Order: sequence, then structure tokens, then C-alpha cells
Amino acid sequence: MSRSYISVELRQLVRADARLRCGYCHAPEMFLGMPLDIDHLLPEALGGTSTRENLWLACSRCNDFKGDRIDSLDPETAQRQPLFNPRTQRWTVHFAWSHDGMRIEGLTPTGRATIESLRLNNEFIIVARQFWVESGRWPPLEDRPETGQS
Ligand SMILES: [Zn+2]
Repeated sequence: MSRSYISVELRQLVRADARLRCGYCHAPEMFLGMPLDIDHLLPEALGGTSTRENLWLACSRCNDFKGDRIDSLDPETAQRQPLFNPRTQRWTVHFAWSHDGMRIEGLTPTGRATIESLRLNNEFIIVARQFWVESGRWPPLEDRPETGQS
């Protein structure tokens, strides 16, 4: 939920850091056809600042569902877990693509809590992913754990 002013220069740095994709569901901006939001990792409502270290990109769905939360329940253990932090944590440690590339699966309590609360497999993104898979461009090569880059 971005309210404070973020300079064009800072936006460009954050966009490059996030490689133009949502930090949570990994939807690329070019597939969505609209600019990604600037996400405050620690929400401004909780004292998060508009500095590079606290900013990443998120699609509007993930950003909306995240709201001002920093943690959520892991559906498997019903324990409160911190949400995934795309700047400090590695996506492939916490998430993996299902074999058909349609769904994100949680590998850790944080991964599962983030999938649930940000609805990373919501019905709208599932439809879009079907087209991405059919185009042969999904899931992204860099999300394969063996490449080690994410
Ligand atoms: Zn997203």
C-alpha cells in the first residue's frame, strides 16, 4: 500500500532489483500488461520506510491481499508465520511450481502461509498461467531450484 512519494530513480532501482516481476507470484510485468506496484516489505502502517531495502515489486492482486500484513497462518500447522520477503529470501527455497506450471506449492511454513494469505493460486492468475504455459514461456527457467538463481 504505497502512499509516500518514491522518486523515479528509486523506482527504477527497485524495478531492476525485482527484475520486473511480482516478488510473490512471480508474474512478469510483460505478461500482465500493466505496471507492477511498489510494495513496502514492512508496510508503512507498521513503520516501514520508502527506502530501497524495504521496497520490491508486487502485482496489484498480491499487493492488495498482502495489505498491511507481515505474517499469516500456515494452513498445515495453524501457526503464525512471517510472510515471504522477496528481497532477503530466495523464492525457490520457499516455493516451487507444480509440474504443470499452473500452481505455486509451498515448501516451507512461510511459503505455505504466503500462498494462502496472498492467494497466489487465485482463479484469475490460474487462467493467465494456462496461456503462459501454452506459450512455452512458463514456468520461468530461473525458478527451477537447480539453477540456484531467484
Ligand atoms: Zn503477484
